[in-house]
Amino acid sequence: MNSLLNITPIPDWYNGLLQPLLIAGPCSAESETQVMETANALAKEGKVKVFRAGIWKPRSRPGSFEGVGEKGLQWLQQVKRETGLLVTTEVATALHAQKAIEYGIDMVWVGARTTANPFSVDQLVAVLKDANIPVLVKNPVTPDLELWIGAIERFYRAGITKLAAIHRGFYPYERSRLRNIPKWELAIDLKSRFPNLPVICDPSHIAGIAGLIHEVAQHALDLSFDGLMVEVHPNPSVALSDSKQQLTPLAFGQLIADLTFHDTTSQSADFVDFLTRVRDKIDSIDQQIFELLAHRMRLVEQIGEYKRSTNVSVFQLRRWESILQSRIDCGKRLGLDEEYVKSLLQLVHKESIKKQADIIKGKTTGDS
Ligand code: PEP
Ligand code: MN
Repeated sequence: MNSLLNITPIPDWYNGLLQPLLIAGPCSAESETQVMETANALAKEGKVKVFRAGIWKPRSRPGSFEGVGEKGLQWLQQVKRETGLLVTTEVATALHAQKAIEYGIDMVWVGARTTANPFSVDQLVAVLKDANIPVLVKNPVTPDLELWIGAIERFYRAGITKLAAIHRGFYPYERSRLRNIPKWELAIDLKSRFPNLPVICDPSHIAGIAGLIHEVAQHALDLSFDGLMVEVHPNPSVALSDSKQQLTPLAFGQLIADLTFHDTTSQSADFVDFLTRVRDKIDSIDQQIFELLAHRMRLVEQIGEYKRSTNVSVFQLRRWESILQSRIDCGKRLGLDEEYVKSLLQLVHKESIKKQADIIKGKTTGDS
């Protein structure tokens, strides 16, 4: 279905908004002073037009800082009044959305945990449909493109055309250098399927640490993302949430100065270039293959240790035969050549046997 044709372009959301859209501000509003200090610094720098701050924070475990609630909306009003920045916050319930509208919040975002729940999305749609404010929809925590698209479509079908997606990465099945696995191929698919839908990158949540934000943000710009949302805090080390990934206003200014922004009109021709897009998907998939291979090897090591302690031999013929057959069958179902699957598997298996043999001989697991 090629829908979302009538999405309103970002520059038509508000006077003076540019594409790429830059949004910055703290993960959470913590105090009036912290909010105003950040907003004043960002306004002075003049790089962003939209200020973000989370008021209601969805936390994995109860008892951690869950946001300042409604009083934070007054601070956002003050930001608007005193700096002229537009303001945005996360809404997760109908009540949040009502409050955001009541306090004149200029745009709202739907968090990753909320996007995943169609009932919650529908409740937000019901409140936001007549508010005429832009809605930014973060990807769900799991890499489920249909669920992400579904949430966006729910808003669109209710007549909300000031819409954008925010790519904040996905829960990593394995530890990696980044907090969230980007799976750029999903964001690229989203862009390809809905060329009118702006897609903004949230490099802060993908990176998870300040030092990797530039790398992630630059990658997003190279892929012609339509904006960035970056977490900025006057004193990141004492931030009440996401402290490792927040930048000081100064570091944010430096980030924007160091990034290469491409000319979107001439760049879009490049971006649409088939090879660029497909190669990027391949890069991302290769990265995931290696992460999975490393994960597999750690499991193999666990078995090695167990075999050593129980004095069982490394090579178990029946297990190998069943691995081979089941993977060949699986490969066939996926359209992969039998010989290809076999030789790939033999390589993987050979390395596993070697690793286990080393363990049984008493070498350390890192030593192959
Ligand atoms: C946030 O933006 O601070 C946030 C909680 O994001 P996400 O929903 O992406 O985890
Ligand atoms: Mn955050």
